[in-house]
Amino acid sequence: GPPLLDVRDLKVEFRTRDGVAKAVNGVSYRVAAGQTLAVLGESGSGKSVTAQAIMGILDSPPGFVTGGEIRFKGRDLLTLGREERRRIRGTGMAMIFQDALSALNPVMSVGAQLGEMFQVHRGMSRKAARAEAVELMERVKIPAAKSRVGDYPHQFSGGMRQRIMIAMALALEPDLIIADEPTTALDVTVQAQVMDLLAELQREYHMGLILITHDLGVVADVADTIAVMYAGRIVETAPVHHLYRAPAHPYTRGLLDSIPRLDHKGRELYAIKGLPPNLTAIPPGCPFHPRCPLAQDVCRTDRPPLHDVAPGRTSACHFWKETLDGAR
Ligand code: SF4
Ligand code: MG
Repeated sequence: GPPLLDVRDLKVEFRTRDGVAKAVNGVSYRVAAGQTLAVLGESGSGKSVTAQAIMGILDSPPGFVTGGEIRFKGRDLLTLGREERRRIRGTGMAMIFQDALSALNPVMSVGAQLGEMFQVHRGMSRKAARAEAVELMERVKIPAAKSRVGDYPHQFSGGMRQRIMIAMALALEPDLIIADEPTTALDVTVQAQVMDLLAELQREYHMGLILITHDLGVVADVADTIAVMYAGRIVETAPVHHLYRAPAHPYTRGLLDSIPRLDHKGRELYAIKGLPPNLTAIPPGCPFHPRCPLAQDVCRTDRPPLHDVAPGRTSACHFWKETLDGAR
């Protein structure tokens, strides 16, 4: 059958005072059931906007999908009506955000919020919904769930709140979960615990999972494949361990080199210099050329296509071979 999610040549633009910001410029990726795709990039790379377009929660206006397809179980979501999309958003796919405190309702107990999902979507009674809420809280390993079901979001720690967000997302057993920087606001130990929980539940429910992150270190152990985004494009895709060992794009290499790694002690660190481009004026040629240590003349004029580097591996760099060789 068709893949769970098949995004094809997606384009999203924002109308801004400075002109049209090209936030997503022809992104394609696929996610199968039971598979985890990490989407890696700096802020403004288009990773969140792509996710919002998939979820149908793009802020529009000013944002508009201007091209491409988003196929979910074979159907192009962009051709569906508002109601149908809302229904899919409720039961087929769910999203987890970075900031649980603002995503949850502050004046409603977590039990009532979780229970509401079952009352609205499954027609359960209040009492039955409350029991389901407790069970979900136990699923996401909130200690003493039964006695905490009446507590409000602010009464939980950041890590526990993020577990509640995960519970909300899981409630209707969606086929796909998109988690946008789900652990960024948490401290390092809690980050790992929440990521492990997410990975465990993903396996248990056999869901597709998209993990959006700016930090490869956080997702390296749980992702199957990685798509690296820059200036609204995918610049590299690879199975996680291949990419980690030998990146085929200078931007990926820069990202990897900016995280401390025990196995690369003594290697010169290069943090990527400069800033991502203004999306209303993306540089010609390779959008990364103003920051790239390997840039040549051709990079300033010719946009590199996404080259097939190896099975399951692509790189949008004219010098992907040299980059791969340099990494070995
Ligand atoms: Fe660098 Fe050129 Fe490759 Fe772009 S195409 S990443 S500028 S070497
Ligand atoms: Mg973001």
